[in-house]
Amino acid sequence: MNSPKKSPQISLHIPPKMWHQFYRAMSDARTTNEEVIGFLFCKRHQLSKQKIRYLPQAWVVPSPDCYERQSTSGLVMKQQFHQYLIETFLEKEKLDVVHIHTHSECGRPEFSGIDDRYESEYAQFLSSQFKKKPRLISGVFDETLQHSQFRIWDRKGKSFESINCSQSWFELTQEANPRNETEPMFARQQVFGEQVQKQLGELTVALIGCGGIGAIFAELLGRLGVKKWVLIDPDRLEAVNLNRLPAATQKMASQQWYKVHYVKHLIKRIYATGSCVKTIPASITDESAKQEVAAADLIVVATDNHSSRQVTQELALAYMRPLVCLGTHIEMQPNNTPRMYGRVTVPPLGGGWCLMCGNIINLHRAALESAADEINHLAARVGYLDGIGDPAVFWLNSLCASTGVGVIHGLVSGFLNVDNGLDWIYEFPGSNWLKTNPDHLGTCGCYFCGG
Ligand SMILES: [Zn+2]
Ligand SMILES: [Zn+2]
Repeated sequence: MNSPKKSPQISLHIPPKMWHQFYRAMSDARTTNEEVIGFLFCKRHQLSKQKIRYLPQAWVVPSPDCYERQSTSGLVMKQQFHQYLIETFLEKEKLDVVHIHTHSECGRPEFSGIDDRYESEYAQFLSSQFKKKPRLISGVFDETLQHSQFRIWDRKGKSFESINCSQSWFELTQEANPRNETEPMFARQQVFGEQVQKQLGELTVALIGCGGIGAIFAELLGRLGVKKWVLIDPDRLEAVNLNRLPAATQKMASQQWYKVHYVKHLIKRIYATGSCVKTIPASITDESAKQEVAAADLIVVATDNHSSRQVTQELALAYMRPLVCLGTHIEMQPNNTPRMYGRVTVPPLGGGWCLMCGNIINLHRAALESAADEINHLAARVGYLDGIGDPAVFWLNSLCASTGVGVIHGLVSGFLNVDNGLDWIYEFPGSNWLKTNPDHLGTCGCYFCGG
């Protein structure tokens, strides 16, 4: 006999902004109908053998005139409208289908016998009609749209299994474990809640750039409670870095430590046990790095160039991962007074605007840099090394990294709403925080995010 196959963990992650739009459309439809239905069309991302994530690319809530008839025994869509959905999202885009409907009751809803029959037939219809055999996921909500259940059908429409659906920035467990006592090291931040501490401990953060900003960021977010890390940086530690790397030593520089190993050392200093740190001493364009980044819960980019930030933003968009972008800049004015900036940018999850259309990074410079990269490597191989980089100081990097950690703390705790994105710039010595209005950042028809 075959041993039963362990089925993979399946989740549906709806970006908060998309969820709010969908929720509003469903609520509006409810005022005219007893029950309402809506669709999400998803891309499937297999993270590992044991983990699959469905990522919605589009949503539709049909208006009353899309139905043949409406009654308590069910809703029937007009053939023409159904055909439109199929052509647009299944034939052209090859997406999987999420069918969501409401029941007129309060509290955790159960799928009905009618739901079972209808969905079973629809799952069979999908796999018999299309070469790609799209999967059917279904969700039922109570009338308040607060309680729900989700399930995924097999292709034969014979069986289904429950799946998790999250509508927040992170896919993390919602129930606190009552037996779990706060670790002594987090006693002074218990005020934010045991649940928040637990979620921070579960969060996998991919950090791209382990230099002057990234290292401080890792030290701070590590102390807040993040224990799972993926570190990506191809560079080695040099003497010129020692003015801004916490706990870095001359010895590390002379031994030419990889920066990822140095940051791993920082995390392991905080957690002698119980942390998990993967190091990838390679560029973000490396295939192994890309896979790890796509599977993470949060991506943080703190590199010193535009081209790696562009690649990171493209990955964050493709795999619908939350992205935090950190950067500083120092320039000397003609009268010899410096102007210094720290910037924290969080593009909205699931699109709207991105680092490219928001002009946070410059595509022209990104293109020049990726060309320059090759030239630099060539130069390094024949013995020419550029020793003078951009100016950078520890305190300004710390300010930027601290604020980035604060934003992440706010996102996990829920005390900061970033659904439309965030772009904050600190300017010194003026000591001003400039906050870009995110409504002004989206341009029509961005090539990258469609914003
Ligand atoms: Zn139902
Ligand atoms: Zn964009």
